[in-house]
Amino acid sequence: MRLTRVYLDAALIPGTVVELPSDTASHLAKVLRARSGDDLILFNGDGREFAGAIEALRGSRVTATVGAGRHVDRESPIAVTLVQCVPRGDRMDFIVQKATELGVARIVPVLSQRSVVRLDGKQSESKAAHWRAVAVSACEQCGRNRLPDIAAPRQLINHLGESTAMGLKLVLEPELKAPDTAMILGGAVEIAIGPEGGFSPDELEAFRVSGYSRVTLGPRILRTETAAIAAVTWLQTRFGDMQAS
Ligand code: SAH
Repeated sequence: MRLTRVYLDAALIPGTVVELPSDTASHLAKVLRARSGDDLILFNGDGREFAGAIEALRGSRVTATVGAGRHVDRESPIAVTLVQCVPRGDRMDFIVQKATELGVARIVPVLSQRSVVRLDGKQSESKAAHWRAVAVSACEQCGRNRLPDIAAPRQLINHLGESTAMGLKLVLEPELKAPDTAMILGGAVEIAIGPEGGFSPDELEAFRVSGYSRVTLGPRILRTETAAIAAVTWLQTRFGDMQAS
């Protein structure tokens, strides 16, 4: 069986002992029935993974020894930023999880004119913290040793005003004739996906003025979460690391 990977927001120094986060510890103890001596992989997002082993389990407290670290790169050669209008319910969790697995470098959650979701400052911060935790779990599961950056949610129009993104900028919009296949990626790409009700005409104009090209994913209207997965998969297949080498 594959070794359990555990993220720690801490320095990992070979030869030392670390205490695992309490939720990870209880999962290891209660669900995986781990025992002392069991091997683990530890990572902290610096691009390395460390051989680890459980030192002791005391109730819900679990400590692990830190062994040798090595660089293991599972990052895409293209830095994909997903600008995602936050959908209703918990579908953003799904999008963050899948986009992380699919190798995005950054997620910018945005609220647009037709967004149903409204967030005040405090809710924005707690949502961002929650989505960062979802991304951590996805990295543990999929083998990434770098966490995607997850911005605090913001108004779409503010993002367009602030964005200094270099590279290609795309906005997904149904019902176009064909994607612009002439584009060349310089290593960074930002792709924006609308909410359930789509982008408004004003917003599409703001995207145009801000230098975004429109692309389509074909004749069927996808739900926003399907569009996110399809768009990132398309980018990774066409320009990134989801292709035979
Ligand atoms: N009700 C809207 C559709 C919204 S779908 C309408 O009829 O226009 C939610 C978002 O997913 C869209 O804003 C768009 O960014 C993306 N999307 C869905 N299907 C798509 C497609 N076939 N091509 C490109 N983008 C699509």
